[in-house]
Amino acid sequence: MGKIVVIGSSNTDMVATASSMPLPGQTVHGNSFTVIQGGKGANQAVAAARAGAHVTFIAKVGDDDFGKQAIAAYETEGIDTCQIEIQKGCSTGVAVITVDESSGENSIVVIGGANATFQAEELDEIEADIEEADILLVQLEIPLAVVEKALRMAHKYKVQTVLNPAPAIELSDELLGLVDILIPNETEAALLSGITAESEESLNLVLDKLLQHVNEAVILTLGSQGVVYRSKGGAPIHIKANQVKAIDTTAAGDVFCGYLVSFLSENNAIDEAIKLANNAAAISVTRKGAQPSIPFIKELK
Ligand code: ADP
Repeated sequence: MGKIVVIGSSNTDMVATASSMPLPGQTVHGNSFTVIQGGKGANQAVAAARAGAHVTFIAKVGDDDFGKQAIAAYETEGIDTCQIEIQKGCSTGVAVITVDESSGENSIVVIGGANATFQAEELDEIEADIEEADILLVQLEIPLAVVEKALRMAHKYKVQTVLNPAPAIELSDELLGLVDILIPNETEAALLSGITAESEESLNLVLDKLLQHVNEAVILTLGSQGVVYRSKGGAPIHIKANQVKAIDTTAAGDVFCGYLVSFLSENNAIDEAIKLANNAAAISVTRKGAQPSIPFIKELK
């Protein structure tokens, strides 16, 4: 069992569906309401745990019922929650989502809450967790200073670092230099490289450019097209996605990242780990929701 540390966001998604969206000042009667654990950090931690890894999730929640429910849910997954901090006087991160059932469109209000209060200095208390990990997995839904410090700590202890640069923001060469494996989707890769990949040739240019900054490999996820990746010194390799009937692609990238690090931590070669993560992500798009859609390892076999 590999040891993974995930540092990132924990959100509660509140999803209301209605036959039409309310206009400003209007009230409409909706059809359903669901509360789902979310946040990219949490989704990836759950995916890595369901893939079989020992996962320590380092996050912040508020001192409200959502925070308590989130911690209880992660414990049910077998995730080590000892380092999840409850921030006094603060709400848990929430996403309030309204879905228009007739068009499928949604509108979302995200409140960072406790996620936004994360301070780089708070990582001093968890340095030992990072030191003992096989892999550190981070995303960008918490303050960038925290991400950068976590990567620096892992780098110091020669712990492999994996960054999913989502949501897309510009990153310094210095930060990318602390990353071993970078896993962007097409939007994130375009922003980071300054190149829009429209052909195989431009895809190769994107990989080339990003690989100049990171230490081991770039894995570019392409939705229903699968994945193209390149390791230092190697040629680009395209691994096709499984053909499935996609009904909800929410968190597909999170499932891919969580599964990938779990397989890498068990000493699988990167191409093997990518194939397995690709399979897991394809299963997740055939189901609704973020965390409810994440498969368990036994479903891959
Ligand atoms: P993100 O969710 O971060 O935008 P992608 O959309 O690139 O990321 O999806 C991540 C991975 O999920 C893909 O590389 C692929 O393995 C899987 N995936 C996404 N959409 C589909 C699909 N329609 N069919 C099969 N697999 C998919």
